[in-house]
Amino acid sequence: MTKNLISRLIAKIADSICASADDLTKLDQAIGDGDHGINMRRGVEALLKQGDDISRQDFSTALRKAGTAIVMSVGGASGPLYGSALLAMAKTASSMPSNQAEVGVVVAAGIDAVKARGKSDAGAKTMLDVLIPVHREIENGSSIDRIRRVAEESATATKPLLAKKGRAAFLGERSIGHIDPGAKSAALIVHAVCEVLEKR
Ligand code: ADP
Ligand code: MG
Repeated sequence: MTKNLISRLIAKIADSICASADDLTKLDQAIGDGDHGINMRRGVEALLKQGDDISRQDFSTALRKAGTAIVMSVGGASGPLYGSALLAMAKTASSMPSNQAEVGVVVAAGIDAVKARGKSDAGAKTMLDVLIPVHREIENGSSIDRIRRVAEESATATKPLLAKKGRAAFLGERSIGHIDPGAKSAALIVHAVCEVLEKR
């Protein structure tokens, strides 16, 4: 069960990221250096390569191995950020979460790690602007449909924000008017996870 779920999560996230890699790159061309799609693709390819091993592990070890694979394979800011999120989630999750409240606790640990590593918080026009509202919905016990919608809307809502972290921050006012690439990839990951959990 656990093994199947982990391998399905990896497969769905990888599908979604690969299908949207060009879009992520285009977003990053507007306010960054145009490599977010490439970085994210490299990350999911590393997960797929180690997928058999990762999905054989207990939940915490699987998260740790996934985090390590991403930190080792992805350059750019997003690799260490997503990687540290997974490593922190691995430390918090003693076993596969069995209800939404437990999922919330694990996700919170991931968000705290991104905040610490990125010296960032909500409103800086980053992946946190999707992850934080999604976490709030998880904690509120919202439906999968609502969580998915909030992820999408939160990514879109980064458009008018002024970037305060990452490469986009160097653009100052010129970062306004574009969706943050990391917010978009975070929304894609949330959508992929929702789709797998919904069919469980
Ligand atoms: P790089 O910026 O090094 O080229 P990527 O293009 O892969 O790396 O990732 C960029 C994304 O990483 C941004 O769109 C943003 O969401 C996220 N990001 C960058 N810096 C930070 C930070 N300090 N805190 C949180 N997220 C960040
Ligand atoms: Mg980039």
